[in-house]
Amino acid sequence: MRTTQYLLGTLKENPANAEVVSHQLMLRAGMVRRVAAGLYTWTPTGLKVLRKVEQIVREEMAAAGALEILMPMVQPADLWQESGRWEDYGPELLRLKDRHQREFVLGPTHEEVISELVRKEISSYKQLPMNLFQIQTKFRDEIRPRFGVMRSREFIMKDAYSFHTSDACLEKTYQAMYDAYTRIFTRLGLNFRPVIADTGSIGGDMSHEFHVLASSGEDAIAFSTESDYAANVELAEAVAPSTPRDEATQELNKQATPNVKTIDDLVSQFNVAIEQTVKTLIVHGTDDHGEPTLVALVIRGDHSLNEIKAAKIKGVLSPLVFATEEEIQAAVGAGPGSLGPVGLKLRTIVDRSAAVLSDFVTGANDDGYHYFGVNWERDAACTEVEDLRDVVEGDPSPCGKGTVRIARGIEVGHIFQLGTTYSDAMKVSVLNESGKSQNLAMGCYGIGVSRIVAAAIEQHHDDKGIIWPEATAPFQVCILPMNMHKSVRVKEVAENLYSELQAAGFDVLFDDRKERPGVMFADMELVGVPHTIVIGERNLDEKAVEYTARNSSEKVKMPIEDVVSYLK
Ligand code: ATP
Ligand code: MG
Ligand code: MG
Ligand code: MG
Repeated sequence: MRTTQYLLGTLKENPANAEVVSHQLMLRAGMVRRVAAGLYTWTPTGLKVLRKVEQIVREEMAAAGALEILMPMVQPADLWQESGRWEDYGPELLRLKDRHQREFVLGPTHEEVISELVRKEISSYKQLPMNLFQIQTKFRDEIRPRFGVMRSREFIMKDAYSFHTSDACLEKTYQAMYDAYTRIFTRLGLNFRPVIADTGSIGGDMSHEFHVLASSGEDAIAFSTESDYAANVELAEAVAPSTPRDEATQELNKQATPNVKTIDDLVSQFNVAIEQTVKTLIVHGTDDHGEPTLVALVIRGDHSLNEIKAAKIKGVLSPLVFATEEEIQAAVGAGPGSLGPVGLKLRTIVDRSAAVLSDFVTGANDDGYHYFGVNWERDAACTEVEDLRDVVEGDPSPCGKGTVRIARGIEVGHIFQLGTTYSDAMKVSVLNESGKSQNLAMGCYGIGVSRIVAAAIEQHHDDKGIIWPEATAPFQVCILPMNMHKSVRVKEVAENLYSELQAAGFDVLFDDRKERPGVMFADMELVGVPHTIVIGERNLDEKAVEYTARNSSEKVKMPIEDVVSYLK
């Protein structure tokens, strides 16, 4: 590709309103442009990267035995009524009507549509197991879209769904997907961690998230220094939110106790709560939509866990997410029989966040449960990690090996054993070996394809721009001819090298603009092309060019005829 015939779109200045480095660099490197909140156009450079990510995902899914399909983005409401999610999904689900006043949704996920396909296409156990996937556009009306394509409203997801007549068979495919995800994120050159995730309101037996480690990540994950143990500290997100969280949050806010005016009031009330609460369930509720994060505490008193969970189902406490004492202790690595570190965690969060505290609620609901909640700004969420680190480092890991560390993660994948939840609701059944009708066990497996592009940049950049791993670089090599428009010799060598590299199968960007060398270098460093060949008059006397790798500052003088073999 010649730069003069390309839409490079690089920007010198940092765009306003781009908070995280990946968003800034995606705009500056000319990868995306904002259309409206959470909606982006992928420009040529961005699209090239996106397609490379897609391709790696596609290859590994196919290698793991999954079949590619493509489902519609617009889905009929009656399928969602059948599954029960028409009522349950909440405001992230965008609903629309056609000219006949029939209702539809823009698909945030595809369990319903795939169930409709499988119940019609598959009738016998002999056709199973089956794993179907697509790479497709999703829409979620995120309450606060942010960080560019990291949390957008329209985004590209790879979603796969598997169907089985036994749990053992589901577990096998689940493991195959776990392994495929490990290969995908390794090929993408990402530093990642699979972590134990909450099965949340959807129920089910087993769930893992795959997190790219980055300080800008919205999740905190606890992991062992000496084993593969890792868990999402929040243990708080369900695959599909099943409660109208916004309304419930508003309800909590309405009930805010007026005599709590300062952070000191809050802390002292909170302390009382802690004292009373050896049996307390402490709840770290992450707002499902991003921010502000709600941290909440529910005092169990004499009530059982089941009673509190029942209250949640009624919607009274639906923004809160529940974890058992053991789950919390496992997550923070506290010793058995003590909630001390968890209490401490919440205490320190409250204290340190005074400066950014924007809102809080406390009180009791009709059922007599006390609750407590704080809305944090983003910085507070970061403080929380440091606090957790103070609390848990040195503590042994729940797995028995090593100690616990806390890191920030970006959720790029999520795999889930759903069991028969959807098959029961939507009657997805086959005749089994004994000729009886049986509802199918189901697994679902998501990857945030577009989010990966941003996550990769969070991990691979410096102050000059992006440093693409080979696998996802928009171009592999760039040719920078110095003052080509004045030197016939430079032009000739550059053109020849361009043809040779293309013939050898390289994706090459040939910067044929009439620009100053400084501008050309800056642009290529910003875009992050892994290999650069600089062609200048002086080196040509020795029939040489200069080579630099984007991830090194070393300049290597190289004979022209060695370039292609060196890059191979
Ligand atoms: P999050 O916790 O970040 O809101 P999620 O748990 O709601 O994500 P899933 O339902 O598990 O998301 O969807 C599968 C994958 O889709 C996620 O692991 C993530 O990588 C990606 N994803 C989800 N929401 C978004 C979004 N708004 N923008 C970009 N990617 C997203
Ligand atoms: Mg999540
Ligand atoms: Mg998830
Ligand atoms: Mg979400």
